[in-house]
Order: sequence, then structure tokens, then C-alpha cells
Amino acid sequence: MGCTVMNTAEFIRRRRACKPVPSGTVLLHFDDGYLDNWVAAAPILRRHRMQATLFVSLEFAAPDRPEPQTLDDTSSPARWDGYLSWGEIRALDRAGPDKVFDVQPHGVDHIRVPVGPRSVGRLTRENWKRHAWMQWAAMRGSKHDWYLPEEPPAVPAGTAIPESDAALAAPAFTGGQQETAAEYGARVRAELARCRTEFKARLGKAPELFCWPQNRTSSLARRIAAQEGYWATTAGQGSNRAGEDPAVISRVHAGENAAGFESAWIDTWHFHATVRCFQGNAYWYLVILAAGVSKALHRRVNARRQRSRQCQGAPAA
Ligand SMILES: [Zn+2]
Repeated sequence: MGCTVMNTAEFIRRRRACKPVPSGTVLLHFDDGYLDNWVAAAPILRRHRMQATLFVSLEFAAPDRPEPQTLDDTSSPARWDGYLSWGEIRALDRAGPDKVFDVQPHGVDHIRVPVGPRSVGRLTRENWKRHAWMQWAAMRGSKHDWYLPEEPPAVPAGTAIPESDAALAAPAFTGGQQETAAEYGARVRAELARCRTEFKARLGKAPELFCWPQNRTSSLARRIAAQEGYWATTAGQGSNRAGEDPAVISRVHAGENAAGFESAWIDTWHFHATVRCFQGNAYWYLVILAAGVSKALHRRVNARRQRSRQCQGAPAA
């Protein structure tokens, strides 16, 4: 695609110093600290001599264990699921000629908070993973294995799901009361400060970047991040051009099943189109639009199938 991958810290340094950034520069970010970043992504990045940023949430780190295999190591099958341990995060962040990941914080627990008295549904055995933040909020300590049980591990099925927003993006509504701006600010500051303290203790460095969970933040949270010493944070709505605030990073999401079903080919073209649109070439939007329509149709067909299956399973009236 004619793009050059740049380390995000270097990109921010250049923007802060008003130095030019070559056109076609791309930054790579991997969120949440998944084990597959070690197993699959790191060897690919190493092979292509690319550097990426890995954003980890403190309370999702797995317990320490022997170093896992990578996909390049074919002596035994690699394990893919779950989260990185601090030992692995430290190894990935360690300086050296084959370093591919710069590790930066993605908050403490990645939760949402209730933002009003309304509920939007009830937890069931089927939907609890989609509302996993409710489990994470109620789980003490590491949440690295939250996804393993069949049943919700901390908040039972039947519980009302409150209307919510990402925890660092909005004042919480608890005990029938809305947090004041000061209380909300104090909560954000405490989380940003805890990330700084833990990064110093575990990785021996002060973090420079912060990735807002769920790509959501507020102007107050951004101000607090700057006061807490973070150079730049994510969740921007721009396109990282000269003239935009260098403390704000805007990102596009590269996911899977872009058209609603599994196809590496379509996902590749969708990603290609997303990057081109971001660079300002609007023609590629047609590819994104087509994938979006296909995804919506697939979702509708699947929902209809599920409903008819439920009806067939129900006793006759
Ligand atoms: Zn995340």
C-alpha cells in the first residue's frame, strides 16, 4: 500500500515538535493485551521490521508461566486464547534489536459504569459475554480467565443491565445519584495515576500514551491525562493531520468478519479501504459501504433463523 509504519511515540514526538511526518505513515496499535499478540502478531511484525504499540489493561494480565510458543515455532502447537502475563508483557517491551512492541496502558479494568436509572435488558446465559463489563466490575483482582465459564462468573443471569457508558468517559450513576464533575474527575485521575505507578513498578518506565477503553473519553478526562503527564491519548475523531491537536490520536479499527461472515479476502480489502478512506480517498468508501450492507443483511437473516429455531423448540400452544 506504499505506507510506512512508524512507532507511535516517535510520531507524537514529531508532532509536538512541529516536525513533518512523511505522507503514508501508519501507526499500528494492538489493544487489550491478548496472548495472540505474542503468539501470532509479534513474529509477523519482527519479520517485517515493524514496531507497534501494545495497550494493556492492568487487571487482565494472566499469572506468570513459562514463555509461550509463537506460530514460527512448529515444535508444539501454540496456545492462542487469553491474555498476556506481566512476564510476557515485560519481555515484549524490553529494548533490543528485535523489539516490536512498545507497551502503554489501556486503563485498569476496562469497565463501563451505569449512567442513569434505566435498564436496557436482563443478563442471560446467552448475552452475558456481550455485557462482560458487568462481570469485570464485580470481579476482584485479575480477570484474565473471565471468558472461560459457561455461566456468568460474578453477576448472575436475570440481573438488570443498566444504561451505561465507558467508565472513563462519563460520570457514573450509583445509588440513585449522578457523580459530580469533581467526583468523576477524581476517579479518572486515580485510574491514570494507578497506570503510571504500576508501569513504573512493573516495566520500569513512565507511560507516555493512554488508550481510552472502548475508544471513549471526555474533554475533562483528556485534560486530566495531560496533567498526569501523558503526551497523547486515543479516541480522536480526526485524521492525525498537521493542524490537529498532537495530544489526540485518531484511529480506525481493523477487525474480522467485516461483511458479516468469515473471509480473510474480504477483511483484507475492507482494511485496505478503511486505510485509504482515512487518508482521504473517498472512492474506497464504496467497499466499506458494501461490506456494511452485507453485515446488516447477515445479522438480520441470523436473527430470523434464531427466532424460528426458538419457535420450533417451544411447546405448541
Ligand atoms: Zn479495549
